[in-house]
Order: sequence, then C-alpha cells, then structure tokens
Amino acid sequence: MSPSPRTATSAGAEAVELLRSMDVATPSSGDVVRLTSPIDESPMPAVRISSEADVGTAIGAARDAFLSWRNVPAPVRGELVRLFGQQLRTHKNALGRLVTLEVGKSLSEGLGEVQEMIDICDFAVGLSRQLHGLTIASERPDHHMRETWHPLGPVGIISAFNFPVAVWAWNAALALVCGNPVIWKPSEKAPLVAFAAHELLVRTVQEFAAAPAGLTTLLVGGAAVGRALVADTRVPLISATGSTAMGRSVGTTVAARFGRSILELGGNAATIVTPSADIGLAVRAITFGATGTAGQRCTTMRRLIVHEDVYDQVIAAVKRAYTKLEVGDPRSPEIHSGPLIDESARTMMGATLSEARAEGGKVFGGTRLDRPGYYVRPALVEMPTQTDVVKRETFAPILYVLRYRELETALHLLQDVPQGLSSSILTNQLREAEVFLSARGSDCGIANVNMGTSGAEIGGAFGGEKETGGGRESGSDSWKGYMRRQTQTVNYGLSLPLAQGVEFDV
Ligand code: NAD
Repeated sequence: MSPSPRTATSAGAEAVELLRSMDVATPSSGDVVRLTSPIDESPMPAVRISSEADVGTAIGAARDAFLSWRNVPAPVRGELVRLFGQQLRTHKNALGRLVTLEVGKSLSEGLGEVQEMIDICDFAVGLSRQLHGLTIASERPDHHMRETWHPLGPVGIISAFNFPVAVWAWNAALALVCGNPVIWKPSEKAPLVAFAAHELLVRTVQEFAAAPAGLTTLLVGGAAVGRALVADTRVPLISATGSTAMGRSVGTTVAARFGRSILELGGNAATIVTPSADIGLAVRAITFGATGTAGQRCTTMRRLIVHEDVYDQVIAAVKRAYTKLEVGDPRSPEIHSGPLIDESARTMMGATLSEARAEGGKVFGGTRLDRPGYYVRPALVEMPTQTDVVKRETFAPILYVLRYRELETALHLLQDVPQGLSSSILTNQLREAEVFLSARGSDCGIANVNMGTSGAEIGGAFGGEKETGGGRESGSDSWKGYMRRQTQTVNYGLSLPLAQGVEFDV
C-alpha cells in the first residue's frame, strides 16, 4: 500500500545515460523543448522543436523519396524494416526504459511497448511478400481482370503520449513495406523517446542503399505542427491517434481535401461479469485492465457491468486487489502502477471524481500520493446508473461499476456510450459468450472473452467504431489502408466486346 522508496538516480540523469548507450545525441541549444519526467519531475534531455516551415520541407522531401521508393521491390522494402527491427532488438532495453522515464509506465510495459515494435516489424517483413490482390473472372471473352495494390504516397503519422513509440511503429512498418515514406508528429508530451526511436530508423535508412533521403522525418511540436501536416494535399494519408476532439479536427480537414485518414481515438471500454464467471480470473483481468498504465490506455477498462448475483463478491475482491496495488516509481519491479503523465491529468481525475460523486457515485480510492511526480491511487466508483460522467472518457484510472440483472440490459449499457473501441465478457457460459460476440452483442472493434479489454496483439486489426474513429491499424489486412487499389482489365483478344452487352459499332 505504501509507495516504494524512490530509485536513487533521477529520471532525467538516467535518460542521459540511456541516450548515450544508444549513441543518440539530442541538441542542447537552439529552439528546444525540455520536459520533466512524470516519475520525479526531474528535467529530461532537450529535444529540438520543428517549425511550421520544417513541415513543408519534410513533405517535399517525402514526395521526392516516394518517386523512387515506390519502385523498390516490396520484399527489398521489407529488408529495410527487418534491419530496423534488428536495431530495436539491440536497443530494446534502453528504448523501453526511456518510455518508462518519459511517460511513466511500468518498466515491464515500457519493454513490452518496444517488443510490440519488434513484432510489427516482423509482421511487416512477412507482409512485404504478400501484398497480393485478386484475379477476377471477366464477363468478356479474352479478357482478364485483377486488383493490384500500389504505393499511396507520404503517410503522416500523429501519435498520442500513452504509446509514444509503438503506434508510430505500427504505422511506419506497414507504410514502408507498402512503398510509402513516413512523416511522424509524435506527442508533444513524449518527444524524447520518439527522437531516440526515430534515430534508429534514420540510421537504418542511411545504411540501406535502396532507401532515399527523405524516407522518414520526425516533426516535434504540438497541435500547430500537426495541423500543418494534416492540411497538406501532398500527404494522401493521415493516420492519427489521440483524443476524439483531435480526431474530429483531423478527420474533417482531411476529408475536406479528399485525403484518407485512419483515426484511432478515445475509448470507454466495458467488461461484463456474469454469474458463471471465474471470479479469481475476473479480479486479475479487471485489476490489470483498469489500473495498468495508470489507466492511460485507449483500451483501459473504464466500466464494469456486474450481475447482481455476484456483485458484492466481485466488488469486495476487486477492492481487496486495489488495496494491494503498489503505486510508485515505475522503475521498481514490484510497482504495478506509475504516475499520470502530468499535473493536468491528475487535476482532471480529481474533477471527474467530484462530478461522479455529484451524480450519485460512491468512490473508493482515487487519492493523490504526496511525493514528487503525478501519482494517484486508482479509483473504483459504484454508480447508480450510467450517467453523463460514465459516458465520457477520462484518461485516468477510474473504473465505474454498474449492476445488471438481464444480459440484454448489460449489452445495452455497454453500447450506450459514444465510443466503440474495446469490450469483454467474463463468463463460463457458451450462450452468453456467443451472444456477446453476435451482431446484437458488443458494438466495439475489439471483443474479448474471459480476459480484460486491453493488451491487444499486433496480429489482429486494431481500432474501434463510433467516436473511436473507425480506423484499423496493425495486423490482419490493415495494410490495405496504406495502399491504393487499382482494378485492371486486360483485353488479349482481337475484338473489343463491351461490358453489359452494350453495342457501339462505327
Ligand atoms: P491528444 O489528442 O491530446 O494528442 C494526440 C496527438 O494529436 C498529439 O501528437 C497532438 O499534438 C496531436 N494533435 C492535437 N490536436 C491536433 C490537431 N488539431 N491537428 C493535428 N494534430 C493534433 O491525445 P493524448 O492526450 O496524447 O492521448 C490520449 C488520447 O489518445 C485518449 O483519448 C486515448 O484514448 C487516445 N488514444 C487512442 C488510441 C487508439 O488506438 N484508439 C491509442 C492511444 C491513445
């Protein structure tokens, strides 16, 4: 229960050492930003900020790079990504620790984030030999039809603070094998680990003969830099991860210029606990789902919908588990939950809990820790109904609890929010599980049985419905979003029959 003692070295000093171990140098003068670590508020190494003029330069260079990269055979493009994956393997420990130092997630999760980057590189390498389309039967004699997937052009990637490098890698690995240059605007709350990860790709590109200069660029800055990237018609695809408010702005700007966007926005994941659930498994799934990454995952479990027959038992067990959680310096292996990203996130959590109380909620936990850094204990809030505050995503460890009697009611509660990213059911009854997975069940992009709502693997397509934005990234056939589809028809005969039997003789 008590916070563990702080690791002696400040986060900022450790970051300097890690950058040195990776042979990555950040500028210490000029137009730079220097943030503090959420772990102990120590100053982190500075990173150069990009100007809006840099955005134009990056896009121009990416356009030039596209003209040659699209002609490089896809398996050769895959080789570049394979080599990048090797860089990540070599520097996994340093990069993973940097994730922890800059955004405060546990060391195990920081390393997991880099593993996810390695996994998507492996996936993309295999994919580079499988960018295949269809052959289609033609209704005309001596004709054949096929679908071919071509490179699209520069891809703008905008990422959120909570997965400061993995989401970029999901996009970049696929975009690169698909024949597209990439321009990355990471979160202004996590520019350092972005800089370090990007340097590893730059290094790989520089040593790869077939890779043109301008194939990858990093633009550090806030929303203004992002907006300049989003507005530019030379960038056919914007893949943006972040809040729904950001997605609304990005989505409309890109649509207005007939560009393409992949939007990965806010979530409000719910889990249903039925009477047949394995309670021990349920408590572990709930506790990790709701408190891992200090509640700062888009897939964090934010709503728990529990059958009234097991409500008291489940809630008592989850409260016991919450009491045992260690909150503190995420570099210590025994810590379950590190800090929130900044003071404004902590203030927002406090304000949301006050609102929940005003709407009839009974709050357990949710207190601040009195030490440097932005630490909170996770909160569990028993709500009388699904009120306004429950329908909104607050990016903090707040788990709202609701009770139900009929499964249809639980499904209605699950669906009755604007977001549609992730969901799960804890049950040992086949019928309940299948109804949950059916057309009238979960309306989310992710639906899990007997597990929590977070921790997706890269092999599946990742994304959600409704205000979550509808985008899909990562595995399955998400790569199609990064290419343009061409339907090709070839006449190898000597006459010119027209489709649908149309006659046109001259
Ligand atoms: P945020 O929306 O504040 O910022 C995300 C990124 O968008 C940053 O790089 C920011 O600079 C940029 N940005 C903001 N406004 C912009 C604009 N108008 N035009 C262009 N770029 C703009 O989000 P955050 O606080 O960094 O991250 C938390 C949010 O991200 C949560 O809502 C979370 O659910 C969501 N998220 C979603 C997914 C997903 O896959 N669905 C994954 C991670 C995070």
